[in-house]
Amino acid sequence: MLKHITRLFRGEEMQVMNYRRLLPTVWLGFLSASLLAGCGGSPEKSVDVARNTAAVAKPNVVIMFADDLGYGDLGSFGHPYIRTPNIDTLAAEGQRWTDFYVAAPVCSPSRAALLTGRLPVRSGLYGNAIRVFFPDEPGGFPDTEVTLAEALKEHGYATGMFGKWHLGDAPHALPTRHGFDEWVGVPYSNDMNWVGEPDFEALVKLNMSGDLEQRAAIYARRAAKYAAPEKEHFAAPLFFSKVTPDGFEDSVEQPTDQTLLTQRATAAATDFIQRHADKPFFLYLPYSMPHTPLFRSEAFAGRSLGGRYGDVVEEIDVSVGAVREALTQAGVLENTLIVFTSDNGPWLFMREEGGLSGLLRDGKGTTFEGGVRVPAVFSWPGTIAPEVVSDIGSAMDLFSTVMTLVGGDAASATDGLDLSPRLLGSAPSPRNEMPYYRGGVLYAYRKGPWKLHFITEGAYGLAPAKQEHTVPQLFHLQRDPAERFDVALSHPEVVSDIQAAVTAHREGLTIAPSLFDARLAALMAPQ
Ligand code: MG
Repeated sequence: MLKHITRLFRGEEMQVMNYRRLLPTVWLGFLSASLLAGCGGSPEKSVDVARNTAAVAKPNVVIMFADDLGYGDLGSFGHPYIRTPNIDTLAAEGQRWTDFYVAAPVCSPSRAALLTGRLPVRSGLYGNAIRVFFPDEPGGFPDTEVTLAEALKEHGYATGMFGKWHLGDAPHALPTRHGFDEWVGVPYSNDMNWVGEPDFEALVKLNMSGDLEQRAAIYARRAAKYAAPEKEHFAAPLFFSKVTPDGFEDSVEQPTDQTLLTQRATAAATDFIQRHADKPFFLYLPYSMPHTPLFRSEAFAGRSLGGRYGDVVEEIDVSVGAVREALTQAGVLENTLIVFTSDNGPWLFMREEGGLSGLLRDGKGTTFEGGVRVPAVFSWPGTIAPEVVSDIGSAMDLFSTVMTLVGGDAASATDGLDLSPRLLGSAPSPRNEMPYYRGGVLYAYRKGPWKLHFITEGAYGLAPAKQEHTVPQLFHLQRDPAERFDVALSHPEVVSDIQAAVTAHREGLTIAPSLFDARLAALMAPQ
């Protein structure tokens, strides 16, 4: 039965509606700011790193994290039609990383790895049957894990998060319980509250009943709603949460108007910057977009040559410009590390409503490059010199990197590495290897320019079918970035070298039980 359920959930984020009717609330403080597109001039070519790092003992940190944005979806990463001048400016004045990875090809585990610096298989924040957290999750982000926000609070940082969490919606799992002073955002994906459809647990029970006809009808209705999204089809909740002297203050607006999600996250972020100009802060801005269903505000409807998906990405780009302008206005731009990246590759199953992985193979859900290699930009005017970097880095390294920059402790970030020598100078990235996990299983491993696949499998619902390779497939990613030509037979010494690296990787790793699949086990237990 478990195998059967697993197969049914391979559609993964074929989500479920959960319409908890809660009284709408309005938080006026976040409605006042306006969107401003900011572009700056070019910084000096040569940088006195020692001088700058000495001058900035506690830099501000801004991490912007798009949802399902593909490697090929930005102007600076080669998209011919989607215009992203603000992100491109950050890339031109800072470092554009060509070989930057997330630790998982789907939302929840990827986000967990960014925030903890730990592989999802180590923390348990992954799933083999249930790939991400769904609404009404009884578990969620565990107290035993340390977030970057918690670590930075130890160093006097103000911490604000404005956007998608996706690490549990129970009160104990919310961002304000894990290091963020304040949070405004949707607790999971923006398609998880389908109006008029069964909720997650009802869908699991339907799958267990074997009524495939009814299930097919549900998915057909939902596919039509993804392709032509209307506000009334989705009832996502927008949470407003903050830490108070007495505990926490939470309220929920449901359904929220998804056409305003990017705009309101931006307004909240710029307001946060203005309120914290005189003390170090960590701003985490994980956009709900361009995850389907795609929604953008009126001003962006029909603006892009790239269709609705292009409109949504261009609205995010303007948001990035507004954040940069707010940093400039607050007088802290040169004291701020800005990172822009994405949580996983494009959701190819969504056809024109999804993005592109550019020249990379495949997309979200897979361990081909298109699933896990994401656009990444680092900007810190006056400190990071302009450069295109093709060293390996990972979102999992941000914890260690940031803590090093603030003079803190990164011991909890077991799998993260400190990228600051590469960001601030010309030393090579300390990361020369990258494991590729799908759920709890190691599918592939990269060392230097070489990548070895032990198992290959297409994105959710798409070819190629899962294949375990008796002779692993080897690709040279620099000569063959699209993973087209298997050269394992002509490079047996490289295959052996990577197999030895995998053995060493496994020796240092205890795989924790899946926290996501625990819910399925509970549902299947005899009542
Ligand atoms: Mg995602």
